Amino acid sequence: MPTRAIVVHYHELWLKGRNRLFFLNRLSDALRRILEGLPVDRIGRPGDRILVWLGEGADTAEALRRIERVLGVAYFAPAQTVERDLDAICAAAWEELKDEPFATFAVRAKRSDKSFPYRSSEIERAVGAYLLARLREAGRDARVNLGSPDRTCRVEITPGPVLVYARKIPGPGGLPAKTGGKMVCLLSGGFDSAVAAYKLMKRGAHLVFVHFYGTGAQPGESSIHVARELTRQLTPYQLTANLFLVPFEPIQREIVRYAPEDTRVLLYRRMMLRIAAGFAERTRALALLTGDSLGQVASQTLENMIAVDRAVPLNVFRPLVGDDKQEILAVAQRIGTYDISSEPFHDCCPVFLPRSPSLRATAEELECAEAGLDIPALVRQGVETATFERYRLVNGRVERIARKAPQLAPAPAVEAERAFHQEPAAKD
Ligand code: ATP
Ligand code: MG
Repeated sequence: MPTRAIVVHYHELWLKGRNRLFFLNRLSDALRRILEGLPVDRIGRPGDRILVWLGEGADTAEALRRIERVLGVAYFAPAQTVERDLDAICAAAWEELKDEPFATFAVRAKRSDKSFPYRSSEIERAVGAYLLARLREAGRDARVNLGSPDRTCRVEITPGPVLVYARKIPGPGGLPAKTGGKMVCLLSGGFDSAVAAYKLMKRGAHLVFVHFYGTGAQPGESSIHVARELTRQLTPYQLTANLFLVPFEPIQREIVRYAPEDTRVLLYRRMMLRIAAGFAERTRALALLTGDSLGQVASQTLENMIAVDRAVPLNVFRPLVGDDKQEILAVAQRIGTYDISSEPFHDCCPVFLPRSPSLRATAEELECAEAGLDIPALVRQGVETATFERYRLVNGRVERIARKAPQLAPAPAVEAERAFHQEPAAKD
């Protein structure tokens, strides 16, 4: 009896040489987690693929929907596992194709288990001829086209089961979750930072999200719900997520009080990076991540981005730096953050904005501009007034667990921050 399964293919992972097993284990873990709650008999690795054996009563469509968000998957397909027998393969191929609309088709076979008595080309010819006869019988005039068929039926003779499938679905590609190190992502609620987050998650990074919100919002206008929804939307890709919510307006008010007007937005950014660095230290993240794109707005000129980064000793990654807005919005659409970021919300950054912001600041100018601020105290305030939420996948749905920010004493990030600022030479 054929069994229902899902075949999962990856490609880039093969480049990883001796680390291959580490990546494959992470990919299997991610599949196991995303399919939690669905009857799955087993997840195995016959040859160069992963196979999910679905259990009794499994909802295949639901399983397929979930796997669409598993990073590292190049493509996947509902498949049948059949006996090592040509007749069984032909019957399964017909089952896979009989309800599909197409005018041309091809059969592609791959025999990695050479003990199977037929060569790949023989399997292709036999199954192709069988399908053609059945199609004729059913009154369809479909033809074989090996060059660019509408539909391809695949037969894989693996060292384990024999697989037959024809409904291939593209996966997101990239590298599996939790293979690329941890970073803190500054998540604003706009389009860009959510897409930036996705791009680095897709390279295996695990992100801790930090959102800064204003307190002047009208009820229902707060940016917090947007940050929460974005985190919820992004969580399946990395399976779990932490979100820090920082009340930013008191800090902005200090900046507005003590610093020159044209540097305000850059000083907001520097404070955001410093506070994010505080969370990086607490969560053992190694770098920061933002959604800046070169020249998109005044604060994102090359000079300004460099001057902003000098506030922190960590690397700040900007995966969208070379992307156009159109490219960014297309990704946002694809990953489902577009509609969330389109919601109106109260953005803390435009508050108290100058009419003509500085376009080419230097780190030294910004350091002068913030000379009147007690930076370590403001960083501590940001870190300590933040609230903390944890998100995780439970039976395919994202659950939010609200918590107060963990109070870790002494605050190492603040101490590091102070030391960093007492040594101007280190910044130049
Ligand atoms: P986005 O679409 O991500 O908001 P943007 O093009 O609007 O980006 P800015 O508002 O200048 O650009 O913000 C640049 C980056 O700074 C953002 O991509 C994000 O990483 C970070 N950032 C800005 N505002 C916030 C905020 N309120 N909370 C967290 N991060 C923020
Ligand atoms: Mg923004």
